[in-house]
Amino acid sequence: MLKSAVEGKRHNPRRQQLVLRGSGTSSLLESEALQDPFMLADLDMLASRHQAFCQALPQVSPFYAVKCNSSPWVLCVLAALGTGFDCASQVELEQVLGLGVAPSRIIYANPSKPASHIRYAARHGVQLLTFDSEEELTKVAQHHPGARLLLRLRTQDRQSTFPLSTKFGASLEACGHLLTSARDLGLAVVGASFYVGSNCQTPQSFTQAIADCRCVFEMGHGAGHDMSCLDIGGGFPGTEDSGPKFEEMSWQGVISAALAQDFPEERGVKVIAEPGRFYMESFCTAAVNIIAKKAVLEPGGWARMAMGGEATLMYYLNDGHYGSFRLGHRNLLSFFSDPLSYVTQEFCSQPPLFPCTLYGPTCDASDRLFLEDVRLPELDVGDWLVFPSMGAYTSSMSCSFNGFLPATICYTMGVTAWDLLGEDLCLPLGTGMQILAVGSGQVYSEVTKSEGSGWSSESILDMKR
Ligand code: PLP
Repeated sequence: MLKSAVEGKRHNPRRQQLVLRGSGTSSLLESEALQDPFMLADLDMLASRHQAFCQALPQVSPFYAVKCNSSPWVLCVLAALGTGFDCASQVELEQVLGLGVAPSRIIYANPSKPASHIRYAARHGVQLLTFDSEEELTKVAQHHPGARLLLRLRTQDRQSTFPLSTKFGASLEACGHLLTSARDLGLAVVGASFYVGSNCQTPQSFTQAIADCRCVFEMGHGAGHDMSCLDIGGGFPGTEDSGPKFEEMSWQGVISAALAQDFPEERGVKVIAEPGRFYMESFCTAAVNIIAKKAVLEPGGWARMAMGGEATLMYYLNDGHYGSFRLGHRNLLSFFSDPLSYVTQEFCSQPPLFPCTLYGPTCDASDRLFLEDVRLPELDVGDWLVFPSMGAYTSSMSCSFNGFLPATICYTMGVTAWDLLGEDLCLPLGTGMQILAVGSGQVYSEVTKSEGSGWSSESILDMKR
């Protein structure tokens, strides 16, 4: 069943390489834990997403947004690929610095920071910080006077699935005052930043924001700041399955044209971005098991069914809102092009289909995967549902409410990630992580890191032989 679950995802041929196979995987397939929810993560895919980003916007340096997926494996591969990192808290700073990443490759991009986290950044040489208020400037002046600041601008982000501008960003009108306040406090503002909201649906959102940043640069120069860095944030769509593709010409064309117009190369402004979802969306496929099932009939329901009416089937899954399906977009059915393709049963596309409510495992009634019902064939307890494109804002947002643990992540790597990681395989891993090491197209073994012990590169090399 599990094999067919993964193999069943036919619309993405690349993912078929991840089918569990070989001797090393048999214990996973046969283990007791097989009924628990899990994710398959493809470390090699990070290299191709990085390449795609750099090809689309070669003038922009990506600073990966750690909040999107903070797996140590992800951070390690991206560090080896040479990305920078966007951190939002001390813990994220610690994670990235702990991998040996130079502080100059980090931006602390949270405009509202606790004083103690600012002090941590100062002590560890992380200089690039964002701000959007006078109060934040006062804090930075006190705790990190040597910071290099980017003024975060409010954007028009209605075109994004997750707008954030009500919470963060200064209005263009407020910028003049903020820039002079920074100067009066002896702080260096070195540029501007914005964030168009996650899963932005149109590149035109960037055009206006980039034009606004040009105004901020002019104001900044007027206030005596050396404006040299533009941060165009994240928000780039990541999915291969639905929605506009970033790689489509319109995205790179529109953003590049806006940059060429307002920040032509000869001005020497360094342009950075903070992509998260773009790198991570397709990184994971989630497998979720049906643990209970119930048919709900309205009054007179059986009679209605006998006359061709239908019951609503309620399925209780072992992952949900408090696990990998936290983020609201998972509740937007439209996010999925074809929910049927995610059911693992061979007959998944065969009618009859029933309206179904998909619940998570906790005792919270709002713990649902979708706000709306979905139409599925009748399924059984023990069946698996497979959800691709589950790498962004899933594991990083999950918790163990009601004692249901977050899904185990089963990492796979091919020769690309293998070569990138090299001897750096001694990682401070969380417990219980599993990795299937794949080299030259072969699965070598499955290794589980046990509590307290480090991952040993020797064991990997043994496996390679
Ligand atoms: N930058 C900032 C400031 C953010 O708040 C976020 C996400 O919330 C990101 C970057 C990453 O955004 P995305 O995953 O949409 O690329």
